[in-house]
Amino acid sequence: MENKLKTSKNGSAGSKKAALDFSSGWNYDPSPESKDHIRLEKKYGLFINGEFVKPSSGKYFGTINPANEEHLAQVALAEEKDVNDAVKAARTAYNKVWSKMPAAERGKYLYRIARMIQERSRELAVIESMDGGKPIRESRDVDVPLAAAHFFYYAGWADKLDYAFPNRKVSPLGVAGQIIPWNFPLLMAAWKIAPALAAGNTVVLKPAETTPLTALKLAEIIRDAGLPPGVVNIITGAGKTGASIVNHKDINKIAFTGSTDVGKLIQRAVAGTDKKVTLELGGKAANIIFEDAPLDQAVEGIINGIFFNQGHVCCAGSRLFIQESVAAKVIRKLKARMESLIVGDPLDKNTDIGAINSKMQLEKIREYIGIGKNEGAEFYESSCSIPSKGYFCRPTLFLNASQSHRVVQEEIFGPVLTVQTFRTVEEVIEKANNTPYGLSAGVWTDKGSKIFNMMSKMRAGVVWANTFNKFDPTSPFGGYKESGYGREGGLHGLMGYVNLK
Ligand code: ADP
Repeated sequence: MENKLKTSKNGSAGSKKAALDFSSGWNYDPSPESKDHIRLEKKYGLFINGEFVKPSSGKYFGTINPANEEHLAQVALAEEKDVNDAVKAARTAYNKVWSKMPAAERGKYLYRIARMIQERSRELAVIESMDGGKPIRESRDVDVPLAAAHFFYYAGWADKLDYAFPNRKVSPLGVAGQIIPWNFPLLMAAWKIAPALAAGNTVVLKPAETTPLTALKLAEIIRDAGLPPGVVNIITGAGKTGASIVNHKDINKIAFTGSTDVGKLIQRAVAGTDKKVTLELGGKAANIIFEDAPLDQAVEGIINGIFFNQGHVCCAGSRLFIQESVAAKVIRKLKARMESLIVGDPLDKNTDIGAINSKMQLEKIREYIGIGKNEGAEFYESSCSIPSKGYFCRPTLFLNASQSHRVVQEEIFGPVLTVQTFRTVEEVIEKANNTPYGLSAGVWTDKGSKIFNMMSKMRAGVVWANTFNKFDPTSPFGGYKESGYGREGGLHGLMGYVNLK
């Protein structure tokens, strides 16, 4: 590392007391976000028909903070009877209220929800980081603003569907069952609920069992926004609850984001029914650095693509391809940057990499690290310290990885990056596309023509050029191959929630 000023004990970097330290990066004093302003109930019921109700079984399960293993709240376990109640409420609301309401009025509710997310953004960001383990910087600057932006965006479409699909007759599908994962709990709820409501559908949504809290806070917002009862129902539980939603006879549409394995189960379950389905599944994105790329910017993009967010994104740039002539240089820069990453308390504003979402996920990542070592790739990890309590993983590289390695082919969902080199454009396209997935990719080069060439040949739903992990509600997102089908976001995101004649 370059020379860095080490912060003195009393916290004043640059003061006379600060000493030059040639061995390590900046040492920042802790800067934790306050938790005083958040309000969490001890126990959450199921949000059905506009109110929180007890689960029929009387069963609850705990949700914890993965950064310190502390219990946060009890949430209700929904069983089949509760799923029936939620679907019934959604159906009644659809028939009696929502499908009959003028579209502009629907839009007003969405605007109201968007504004209330903004008003409560600090609380939502803190709870997101506590329940899910992601750094507050990420939940505060990405997840929560984007969740509000999705409601704003789709609010605008509610009364313009005829313009969205000109010369077609547009009608809603009915009741949508929506199942979401733990990596972007609030944002995924917004991705699912906002277009569904804008198009005139009603919803039964289930968040992931390890991150239910911001969806339940959203339920409070929806209740306080005065949305007619039953238009949005939010129920909690694990895979069995999800399966009850998928198999429910009175649901017209299933929208799922999660693992490819569960996506395949869902596809089988709905085969032969007239349910519409959209699936956003796993990914193994290639991040490709050409020799003419702005290398420092590219290194920052690699770090952003895989390490910020603990690698917990389906679109994570988990496979790095570097053109051979600059490989040594990029790897040197990458290792140096990894040394400066701070792994630790998600609520600390200095933290780059927070906690792994669950013990099970951490074990899975460790298993893959073991597999990578046995397969013979060269293992490298940052020497940063990690907290002794909670679920943490150092940023890790597998250098000289080869195409057949499992760590290159399979989704790890952790801060683990495989590194390969290439010589020609044809070679890297071949290698990058050689995976069962096709969700996203990144290309770093100075040449616009190269970007266009790569974009047309990469089998990925999104190709970012000289950037990575950029999201916008106006832009569609979704995959090829085993990464699923259907698009979320943008005009395309409405297509999964309408009948067109
Ligand atoms: P991840 O690996 O991201 O945790 P999962 O696919 O296991 O992904 O979970 C994503 C969501 O799917 C969660 O809300 C989970 O409870 C739900 N789920 C798990 N199994 C099933 C199933 N068989 N049917 C429907 N939903 C399921």
